[in-house]
Amino acid sequence: MSTESVEPQENAVETPAPLEPKDMDQHECAACGYIYQPTKGDDRSGIAAGVAFEELPITWKCPVCGAPKKRFQNIGPLNAPSGFKQNLGYGFGVNTLTPGQKNLLIFGALIVGFIFFLSLYGLQ
Ligand SMILES: [Zn+2]
Repeated sequence: MSTESVEPQENAVETPAPLEPKDMDQHECAACGYIYQPTKGDDRSGIAAGVAFEELPITWKCPVCGAPKKRFQNIGPLNAPSGFKQNLGYGFGVNTLTPGQKNLLIFGALIVGFIFFLSLYGLQ
């Protein structure tokens, strides 16, 4: 086992108590975008359907990338508008993007910059 470094306290801002049953809240892996759905459970870890994220064992890890529970963020119940709770808890806009979207953003910016660079050469 490795010594676990202390993660920055991502949930320093108190999240307001949801109106919906808290047990049904989904949680998204901040590392890979995997979403734990209490209604589905987690087959690969032997978690039965209906188990709330809070009730998962502390040793539970993301079945996709192995990130620990604390890397997950509450994204609200299944029917909630996507990112609703995230937007409340995070002031930093980029954090509301999925990892895939971030990659796209970064990659897209690089390509645009590269094309711009080439076009400057083309003009001369
Ligand atoms: Zn993950």
